[in-house]
Amino acid sequence: MTLGKTIDGKAFAEKLRGRVAVGVADFVAKTGRKPGLAVVLVGEDPASSVYVRSKGKATVEVGMESLEFKRPATISQEELLELVEELNGDPSVDGILVQLPLPKHLDDAEVIARINPAKDVDGFHVVNAGKLAVGDPTALVPCTPMGCLMLLKDELGDLSGKEAVVIGRSNIVGKPMAALLLGESCTVTIAHSRTHDLAGVVHRADIVVAAVGRPEMVKGSWIKPGATVIDVGINRVPADEEGKTKIVGDVDTAGAISHCAGITPVPGGVGPMTIAVLLRNTLVAASAREGLPMPEGL
Ligand code: NAD
Repeated sequence: MTLGKTIDGKAFAEKLRGRVAVGVADFVAKTGRKPGLAVVLVGEDPASSVYVRSKGKATVEVGMESLEFKRPATISQEELLELVEELNGDPSVDGILVQLPLPKHLDDAEVIARINPAKDVDGFHVVNAGKLAVGDPTALVPCTPMGCLMLLKDELGDLSGKEAVVIGRSNIVGKPMAALLLGESCTVTIAHSRTHDLAGVVHRADIVVAAVGRPEMVKGSWIKPGATVIDVGINRVPADEEGKTKIVGDVDTAGAISHCAGITPVPGGVGPMTIAVLLRNTLVAASAREGLPMPEGL
């Protein structure tokens, strides 16, 4: 039996961060300033606080300016929109990221819509979603699907003509992932909660991207021999040791690894790519704002 390989997203992300750091140094040399990433955190959600801290650390490590704006969970919609407007107008800010989810009384969609699309490094604004849909290369693309595409191209080279199945149709992962794969001339199917015979749909794919949020839902037997699998899912489940938990993906990795060509592990696959692409997007946004060409190797 041939064993599939584990696709090391952590190592790829490290190399990408290295290339971003080189691009940042070049940007600083040309403009005399550092690219700036502003992260807005509302409330005290522990998971969001951890994400924001690691984003800040990674931003500084590649030589960029990290600006954190922590606001209490009691902030009003108007106050949050005012903060976004301030950041839109701040010349030292190239990227604005509002950490989601926001507390329930706030309207995520309205906040995202207020971000200047040129600073929308999460790629969630409808202008960027539209640019991605029409294949405009100036689109800022959501970080997680962009990271998945980079891993796939690194593994497979040219993706043209491949059968790709994306499971999940969220605006932040599934839909942009499908648009990116279409842009690479794959034959793309988007599967979701209403899809009939998901096993059969997955079994015809050369490329499977699972972004569902259900622990190990995609069974190994569904995967076509030789397919490449990208597991986006992050699911916390009870561990063998009592009282402990562990993180697993959306794919039954143990069942798939025996016959797939490659699969991203969870953790250590797609997760590390998301922050690396955020840094890349910030440098891309900063370069565009300064009228510089797209940084090389990104
Ligand atoms: P979401 O809840 O917004 O979307 C889930 C999608 O899965 C929906 O479109 C739904 O139609 C589909 N779905 C639900 N049940 C299904 C079923 N039984 N069969 C087929 N499809 C089904 O989730 P999301 O934000 O897209 O995230 C998906 C997963 O990816 C989550 O586990 C999330 O934690 C993870 N995620 C990871 C990263 C990362 O950096 N690695 C980033 C974003 C999301």
